[in-house]
Amino acid sequence: LEEALRQSQKMEALGQLTGGVAHDFNNLLTAALANLHLLSRHLPTEAHRYLDGARTALERAEKLTRQLLAFSRQDAVNPALLDLGDSLRRMGDLIEHSVRGDVALDWDLAPGTWTVAVDPIQLEMAVLNLVVNARDAMPEGGRVRVALTRGPSPRMVRIEVVDTGTGMAPDVAARAFDPFFTTKAMGKGTGLGLSMVYGFARQSGGNATIESRPGAGTRVMIDLPLAEGAATAPAADTGESAGAPA
Ligand code: ADP
Repeated sequence: LEEALRQSQKMEALGQLTGGVAHDFNNLLTAALANLHLLSRHLPTEAHRYLDGARTALERAEKLTRQLLAFSRQDAVNPALLDLGDSLRRMGDLIEHSVRGDVALDWDLAPGTWTVAVDPIQLEMAVLNLVVNARDAMPEGGRVRVALTRGPSPRMVRIEVVDTGTGMAPDVAARAFDPFFTTKAMGKGTGLGLSMVYGFARQSGGNATIESRPGAGTRVMIDLPLAEGAATAPAADTGESAGAPA
């Protein structure tokens, strides 16, 4: 509990700090990019590769500030009642497009209605972040499984994304939810993906956890509370899967 509190205080402070700065920063970057574009017309073509270098750096900075903005907006949640199975099935195309051809995608969605009260956009971002992380952890290809199962208690439901990738050393797994913690190359990772996932889970009254073994792969679980009175979980665990999204 102490750890969860520390984490949420850290996130709140960072959210406030970054929200204000990122907004102004993004406007400044847009202005700088526009001026570079104008400058390119007045410079000989030999100079254009330097301009391209500057543009690439500014575009990366813009991408980072956009993610910072999304991160700091975590307070503005708009929860809606939705069925998790439906929501995941509707994300099918999006998820399929975010993995490479050498990554096989398995769906394992427990039948039944799993009604939760969460922000649909945050849910989508959270699942997508997990799938992209899984893909990044499998440079040589592998399998990702997106599953919907019973949660750790009767009032909870679990979304899990499991990969056969590199896995994480214990010290990496321990810090993986920290904002800005990344092991990815400069400009590739922001370290905000899993902290967003964690923030989403906590704000929705649930939790997020990681199980990982180096060389064996990673399982990230998001546990969410079923909406009061609205949920009808399946009567028995048939072990059946709903299969690929329609
Ligand atoms: P980013 O992806 O930008 O680095 P995240 O917060 O999503 O930020 O992840 C933080 C770190 O956790 C990653 O840099 C990586 O080291 C580790 N990680 C996350 N997901 C996985 C995974 N599925 N397999 C192995 N390592 C992972």
